[in-house]
Parts: sequence; C-alpha cells; structure tokens
Amino acid sequence: MLSKKQILFNYLKNIPGWSTKRKIVVFSVDDYGNIRLASKVARENLIRVGLNMDSNRFDRFDALETAEDLSLLFEVLTSVKDKNQRSAVFTPFALSANIDFERMEKEGYRNYYYQLLPDTLNQLPGYEGTWSMWQEGIREKIFLPQYHGREHVNIKLLMEWTASKNSKVLACLKERSWTGLEFSPYPTLDYVSAFSFDQFQENKKLALIAEDGLKIFKKNFQYKATQFISPGGSAHSILEKTLSEGGIRFIDSQLLKKEHQGDGKYSYKLNVLGGKSPYDAIYQIRNSVFEPLLNKNNDWVDQTLSEIEIAFHCRKPAIISSHRVNFCGHIDSSVRSHGLKELQRLLFAIVNKWPEVEFMASNELGELMLEPDKQK
Ligand SMILES: [Zn+2]
Repeated sequence: MLSKKQILFNYLKNIPGWSTKRKIVVFSVDDYGNIRLASKVARENLIRVGLNMDSNRFDRFDALETAEDLSLLFEVLTSVKDKNQRSAVFTPFALSANIDFERMEKEGYRNYYYQLLPDTLNQLPGYEGTWSMWQEGIREKIFLPQYHGREHVNIKLLMEWTASKNSKVLACLKERSWTGLEFSPYPTLDYVSAFSFDQFQENKKLALIAEDGLKIFKKNFQYKATQFISPGGSAHSILEKTLSEGGIRFIDSQLLKKEHQGDGKYSYKLNVLGGKSPYDAIYQIRNSVFEPLLNKNNDWVDQTLSEIEIAFHCRKPAIISSHRVNFCGHIDSSVRSHGLKELQRLLFAIVNKWPEVEFMASNELGELMLEPDKQK
C-alpha cells in the first residue's frame, strides 16, 4: 500500500508533461548484458578476501542473464495479451560490452580492454544459447534492447586501482567480477557509474566512451539505439550532445535531476515527460517502480498497481522502472522464481483491471510522443 505521502508525491510527479488518454504500460529494465558477479563461488571467494557482498541486492545476486533466465522471463511476458493481442514487453537497457578480464590480466592491467556482449555470451561456460535467446526476444518484440552505456564500469577508477595494485580490486577481477567495491577515493566517483567524474573536463573522455558504446550497440543488435539511461545515473547532460549525434532521441531522466558540475559542486535540473533536451531528444520520466527483490515484506504488485493507477488518472503512460537482478537465477534460482511469480501476478492484474491496456517498448512510446495525431 502506498502511504498518503507517496500518493501525493506520485500525483505531483505525474502532473507535468506529455499526456494521453491511452493506457500505455512500459517496462524499462536496467542492466541486461552486464557482468556483475560471475558465480556463487566467486561470491564466496570475494567475501573471503574481505569484500562486503551483502550491502545491496546487486552484490548479492546480480549476474549475467542466462538462457534459462530469458526463456522463463519470455514465458511470463507472453502469458498475457493487451487490447491489440500483443504480449507484455520489456525494454532491457543493455550494456554493449564488459571488461575483457582475461586480456587485461594477461597484459598486466596496463591498458583497458573490453569484450563485446555477444562474444562474452558465446564464450562463457554456462551461457550456451543465451545470445540466441536475445535474438528471439527481439524477433518476438517482447525484449527490445536500448542503450545503458558501453560498460557498467568507471574506467578511471578501474585503471587507478589496478595501477596501484589494490588487492581487493585485483581479487575481484580475478573472479571475473566487478562488484562489492564500495571504497572509491573520490566522493563523486562510483565504480559502477560509468559516466561519473571528478573534474568536469573528464567528460571529454566519457563522451568518446558513450559514442563508442553506441557504435558497438549497432554492431551487436543490427539496429541503432534510440533511447538511453545513464549506467548508475550521474552522466552530465553535456553528454546528451554526443548521444544525440549518435542517434539517441529519447533519454530517461529523473524529474528533478541532481547533476554534478565537477569538484563536488551540484546543481538541479527539472526535466518533464516529453520535455526536449537542447539537442532535440525527448525526456522520459519513469513514474512507477517494480523491484520485488528490494523488500520482500512489501506487496510490490499492490504498490506498482497503485502507481499505474495514479499515472492513468493523470493521463500519463505508466513507465515502470525495474532491474535485471529481480529476474536473475544464476546465483540463486529462488530470486528468479520470486521475481517472475510477482511479475506474473502484476501482469495478470494489469490486463484484468485495464483490458484496454497497451504494452509498448519505451522507445515506441517515445515515437508516439513525437506524433501528435496518434496520441489520443
Ligand atoms: Zn544500471
């Protein structure tokens, strides 16, 4: 149940911006394609070297999705149909690449190297058939990737840590993982926030990474990404220029974005649903949350339904924010069973309550926002 304060906050969040009478539901799900924790054994080894692997759900359970994860997810998505007989749709915000652990180790961590997602999935034991499941999801229009950055890694931190031979970081890389490293020497840099920075001029290098990641996305998926959400937040809006030049037309943002300006100074930016960036991209503001792993005592189905209801009441599409970790079984299959059971319950409840609902990918909603005659 939402508290009175949460209800009020949800209404306020849904008042400004683009509106429609149509009942549109979008699932924007971050982190697909990212290697966080390699395995259960890696987790145990990392605890042994002193990493805190229990401070959040990602360090505990977030691993590269397997063929089984995707196959079970697709079963749930296709178990419901909207008014157009379309199944529920996930927009996985995906990473184009990951750290090339082997090559970096072999070359003594002198340079940074990455490995493309399809290469990783085709080479890593236990991931047989996963890349073809991605293709199936795209073909069936139920799992339509958009861009979450080149990798979910802050390269400045990675290179500084390996240069100083930080033993915890080296142990983590040896386990083919990038997790549990909450000890950044810079207050504004986070090890998983690829576009976080200390000095403003670092954005020049970050723009090259953003641009490169978009090119790899096209190579991986055979189409250009049109939507972006920053990996770990904290990308400065100056990167939006590079992103727009690379084909990004829709950007997921918070309504009130706290933006680092360099040297630990921050400013606030208000972005509304349908608002335009200086480079003509359109902002999307997620207005519902579905994170069934976050607090198991919370009735997530009930909460998300209430948020969708408020969105519809305000004539807004429901843009539901979630993360891959909720549907991940590689570390612990009970996490995936719980997440998918709750997702199933949510989807049944949505189609029962709103038979006129329309499921869409987030970029499809973006396209709709650009065509005024199709909005009503
Ligand atoms: Zn992420």
